[in-house]
Amino acid sequence: MSVSRNVDYLLRPSSDLQLTAAYPVNPRRGTAIAIIVVYCILLALMTLPYLRTFQVIQTNPGYIRRGPHAQRDQPPSSSSTEKQTFQRSCAPTTIEERPPKPHSRSRSRSHSAPHRDLDRKAIFDGTVAPPPGLERFYAKDAFVCDMSGLPIFCPKCDNWKRDRTHHCSEVGRCVRRMDHFCPWIGGIVSETNLKFFLQFVVYAALYTLFMLVVLAVFVAEQVRIGLGRDAWLIGILVCSATFFFFAAGMSGSVIQMSLRNYTTVENLFKGNKTYFIAVYTGPQTPQAAMERPLYPTVTYPLRPTPGADIRQFAILQTKPGENPWDLGALQNWRELMGYSWLEWLLPIKYSPFCKHGARYEYPFGPVLDRMRREAGLSSR
Ligand SMILES: [Zn+2]
Repeated sequence: MSVSRNVDYLLRPSSDLQLTAAYPVNPRRGTAIAIIVVYCILLALMTLPYLRTFQVIQTNPGYIRRGPHAQRDQPPSSSSTEKQTFQRSCAPTTIEERPPKPHSRSRSRSHSAPHRDLDRKAIFDGTVAPPPGLERFYAKDAFVCDMSGLPIFCPKCDNWKRDRTHHCSEVGRCVRRMDHFCPWIGGIVSETNLKFFLQFVVYAALYTLFMLVVLAVFVAEQVRIGLGRDAWLIGILVCSATFFFFAAGMSGSVIQMSLRNYTTVENLFKGNKTYFIAVYTGPQTPQAAMERPLYPTVTYPLRPTPGADIRQFAILQTKPGENPWDLGALQNWRELMGYSWLEWLLPIKYSPFCKHGARYEYPFGPVLDRMRREAGLSSR
């Protein structure tokens, strides 16, 4: 509305303004066309990532599958929708989305304790079977764990939490690389849509900045030539300024955290936080197995069967405040936005970090290399 008023003012200033005003105002066709073109481009650039963010929230929000006990509490309709959502999931290696194996249910009913109260001692003693899904962790070379070497467990979802997963109380689900719950887009900003959300707030900041500048120029000109202040334009100008500062602030915040590879949740609680990380020690020689290691270890499977691949993990701890996933600003940015300018600018592809690797859930940075060296697990 404000743009059409301004363009109309540029194209067809009243004859009074052209002939009698102290500062004659002539038609400015070129300026009007430029404003319309830039306005339409910015509007499209802002709208596309917003729609993409909304679409991803509906189809692939990055939820972790609930465990069997939690699922029993769900109404049938909810489970059906959930299953369909996971079937549409994009992430190529999101193995949680697969239905549980047929043997899991009967085994857990007969032997396992209620998963809401994970009894670690009983699990290590062998008197209680661990909740299913541990093999998805110890198949990797490193994963976040607790002091005992077990992955972090969410009692509400009744399932193990993949690295950087956070339980969102708004939706009652564990969410991969959850950033924050955003009422403006009606859902969770997480690993699957953080890139599109960032594009949206950046373009929204540019759009509102453009509106702000154009309106400020017009209001100033109208005051200068004696037309007085147009209350409608001033109202739009104030709204543009408000949304600009909000969008610019949000853009700056997300960019700053992304360059350091923090989610909003992680950034809030980083302080002196430390992580325990189970790090694969590599094949064990008989001699090494006899030596007492410098670090606590955990060996998987917890109850090995004949012929099973035994994997020993060192339980290492980061220093307070360290971010083990910090890859450096440029690589952090690429892992979020992609590896080409086109991916940075347009909401087409998912972030590269959605493709969870076989060795790590998310790539670890130099912090883990240093921890390996200090533990004598690597000479690099
Ligand atoms: Zn949870």
